[in-house]
Amino acid sequence: MKGQRTEEVLELQRTLRRFIDEQMPRDAVEAWDKQNYFPRDVFERLARLGVMGVTVPQEYGGSGRDIPTAMMVIEELSKASMAIAIPFIMASCYAGVTLVECGSEDQKELLLPLVADGKMLFAYGWTEPDVGADLASVMTTAERDGDEVVINGAKRFCSGAAISDYIYTLVRSDPRAPRHHNLSLILIPPSAEGVTIDGIDAMGLKGAATTDVTFQDVRVPAANIVGGEEAWNNGWSLITGIGLDIEKLEVAAMALGLAQGAYDEAVAYSGQRRQFGRPIDQYQSVRHSLADMRTSLYAARLVLEDAAGRMQLQIPAGTETSMAKLFVTETARKVVLDCQTVLGAYGYVKGFECERFTRDILAMPIIGGSSAIQRNNISKGFGTER
Ligand SMILES: Cc1cc2nc3c(=O)[nH]c(=O)nc-3n(C[C@H](O)[C@H](O)[C@H](O)COP(=O)(O)OP(=O)(O)OC[C@H]3O[C@@H](n4cnc5c(N)ncnc54)[C@H](O)[C@@H]3O)c2cc1C
Repeated sequence: MKGQRTEEVLELQRTLRRFIDEQMPRDAVEAWDKQNYFPRDVFERLARLGVMGVTVPQEYGGSGRDIPTAMMVIEELSKASMAIAIPFIMASCYAGVTLVECGSEDQKELLLPLVADGKMLFAYGWTEPDVGADLASVMTTAERDGDEVVINGAKRFCSGAAISDYIYTLVRSDPRAPRHHNLSLILIPPSAEGVTIDGIDAMGLKGAATTDVTFQDVRVPAANIVGGEEAWNNGWSLITGIGLDIEKLEVAAMALGLAQGAYDEAVAYSGQRRQFGRPIDQYQSVRHSLADMRTSLYAARLVLEDAAGRMQLQIPAGTETSMAKLFVTETARKVVLDCQTVLGAYGYVKGFECERFTRDILAMPIIGGSSAIQRNNISKGFGTER
């Protein structure tokens, strides 16, 4: 789809598609999914195309902060394999966007050039066993001890922790301060003494395995406080800023890629599968279902591109990014399940991509703020539409 993309972005899209065809063949993708494996060698070759720096300003070694292009890359990679798409997000968005928006100048100078080279992956350590949507209630503690910070607690569903360079960890840094003024963000290397990582057996999103992480008297330098010393106890304003809006779009872009991939397979399958003497795509019910899916994908892409365009122009877009997250992930889930119907029994067994797309799409309306939480956000703005 051409849309409003520049020739430069379209060229990057073509390059990516060639890379995916050559380096991410279907049998390899199936093996990564089955083994919950991160193909770091393929990721490093992808980094050599320069795509990791798409969120990093040129003065720090990137190609310039370009949110719509980052979303295009996520969509293209998600169409092929989450084992590469999620690590791309961990580099360009979790690390890149976070450091640009929240990092101190020292952290930017040190880490952003590594992001641009694909050598700096962050995992998000926000959710806890007793804390899901209500993130301000996290119980993992951080205490100052001279030039160090000591962390104790547990994080759940920390995706990609084992393959990351830092876990970007939301902690309660002052037990006495009022809610929203008692949180900080700390960069914790997964290799630090006192960090334990245990896999969680999730049904999809394989490759950047989701995990339980525990911290027992983990010590890191105070230099690892995101935003520097002055950001101590200021973590809430960091996580509710632009980074959170972009995170909603990352999930929407993954969902769109999964749905586009499922649709492409359903179109191809329905042209080949013959029943009652003709291809099933000659039956009106199948054609209309595919027509509805195509329309849904078109609408979802427009909504995502509009919200990403607002982020690029730095127009406040908390409501628009919530609407995009809600609409695109719910639409994409319906498209993938409808594709499964087109494939019939073959959409329910391994060997067709549909089975993997179905497992992966089910997470999208949950992660990065559930659909209910997005509806809460959107309803706060009732009456301000005009
Ligand atoms: C595969 C996978 C990967 C993940 N990766 C990460 C990661 O890398 N880092 C990370 O920090 N987290 C991660 N998560 C966690 C994810 O972000 C949380 O699951 C999500 O925030 C929701 O939290 P919860 O599941 O505990 O649900 P809860 O918050 O317990 O909510 C349960 C239900 O109640 C509803 N609900 C809750 N509060 C409200 C409310 N105020 N109004 C209306 N409805 C409400 C929710 O919509 C949901 O339907 C991952 C989860 C999965 C499944």
